[in-house]
Amino acid sequence: MTAALTDFARLSINDATTQNWTLAEEIVGYAARGIRSISIWRDKLAACGRDRAVAMIADHGMRVSGLCRGGMFPRETAAERRAAIDDNLRAIDDAAALKAACLVLVVGGLPGSSKDIAGARAMVHDGLAAVLDHARKANVKLAIEPLHPMYAADRACVNTMRQANDLCDALGAGVGIACDVYHVWWDPELESEIHRAGRDRLFAFHICDWLVPTQHLLLDRGMMGDGVVDIRKIRGWVEATGYAGDYEVEIFSAENWWRRLPGEVIEVCKERYLSIV
Ligand code: ZN
Repeated sequence: MTAALTDFARLSINDATTQNWTLAEEIVGYAARGIRSISIWRDKLAACGRDRAVAMIADHGMRVSGLCRGGMFPRETAAERRAAIDDNLRAIDDAAALKAACLVLVVGGLPGSSKDIAGARAMVHDGLAAVLDHARKANVKLAIEPLHPMYAADRACVNTMRQANDLCDALGAGVGIACDVYHVWWDPELESEIHRAGRDRLFAFHICDWLVPTQHLLLDRGMMGDGVVDIRKIRGWVEATGYAGDYEVEIFSAENWWRRLPGEVIEVCKERYLSIV
């Protein structure tokens, strides 16, 4: 049995969880509540301004567990694929400026009206290969996030830890995995594929819960403890690899948590982190 966590040293909040705060409000508000790590979405980063964000994070003694997101490599035309690669190169530069632990990649689904999922997966491989050299030089780790298969068409055609591990094998150093319990909890190979990834490849660990029933494919994630995921068991598997990174709460919840005051949401995250995670 994995021991309960006793402090917030490794707790990160993904800033999608506090949808109604600006990045500046998040940095101040998280720090004031004893949170030392944040994962940042690029739209909020752009609204804040990168230099201001970097300075504020330093001033508040915080670190960045991830920048969300790069990826979305499969596109219909060569010009569009090139544009996606250029966008990923900019994201890598942002992640480097933030000293982010990784750039999280939602790799993309089927382009346009395509039915060729194998082709889309090949485009993901090729897109990653095209940006990897830049990422290595910038010292930015690329974290492939396998998404639940319900997103295979429109968001990510990499849907299991096994697929992500296979991509890592093919691409080599600098490419790893963001393991999100929401997406992979159901996978009968989860324990063995976490073990296979190991600490060198596990760049991020995201937590929330799977609600039954789920009301919306994207925006109805649960708070830890409100759903069916045995988060502590999975954390135990992750810790057994020697993983020393953060535990990042990431909750998209249009009808529940996004309607509450962000400060209250953080307090619930902290409470559940100790009691559930
Ligand atoms: Zn995630």
